Amino acid sequence: MSKPSLCFSGVAYAYDEGDRKLMILKNADLSVSAGELVALVAPSGAGKSTLLHLGGLLERPQAGEISICGQATSTLSDRARTMLRRTSVGFVYQFHHLLPEFSAVENVAVPQMIAGVDKTSAEARALVLLRSLGVYERASHKPSELSGGEQQRVAIARAAANAPKVILADEPTGNLDPETSGLVFEALVALIREHNSSAVIATHDHALAKRADRVVTLKEGRVVPIKL
Ligand code: ADP
Repeated sequence: MSKPSLCFSGVAYAYDEGDRKLMILKNADLSVSAGELVALVAPSGAGKSTLLHLGGLLERPQAGEISICGQATSTLSDRARTMLRRTSVGFVYQFHHLLPEFSAVENVAVPQMIAGVDKTSAEARALVLLRSLGVYERASHKPSELSGGEQQRVAIARAAANAPKVILADEPTGNLDPETSGLVFEALVALIREHNSSAVIATHDHALAKRADRVVTLKEGRVVPIKL
């Protein structure tokens, strides 16, 4: 088994609710290898988004360690965490969050330009990604001119733009009809395999989750395997 690109070790996280604490994770472990796709299936409110935010270094755990590509993150400064997030993590959300005033190709080029790639090279790579996701013909269109499935494919291309080692997806097909969901999920899986990324995909859809390498859920603050 190759070295994990994403590793949670003894992670704890709770929200403050006045004088009570809402415990989400307690001594949680999760290790995702390069090229491995893990589906996270749990009821609404169980803490899926929180886990993804922690993995993407948007939140800090209250105990334990989260490592990305072998780099422990608990002692890193906010700035170092931001840099690591930019270079190593791609997010896909339920709603695409594309920039409305930019075309599809520009939306995929922007994160690369923020990472220092020149515009011509960034747009060239954006077109390659859009082609592999089957939306090359829509490259010059703005998000409002794209269907839900097309918008989500562009959002996946954007998440993959900087070839991140870790891809975190939060209900990426939650907003799509079943047929489009299947196609978009396939496109996401193909991209993950091609880039040898580690991926955690939170989904309610058991049929899609079954296509992952393994399925986990959250139970009493821990990440545990389940069979669907
Ligand atoms: P899921 O993604 O599985 O639906 P979340 O991670 O969004 O779950 O939320 C887990 C629990 O934490 C929910 O009960 C939610 O209401 C609560 N929660 C989420 N964000 C906050 C917050 N910022 N402050 C307090 N509670 C929160």
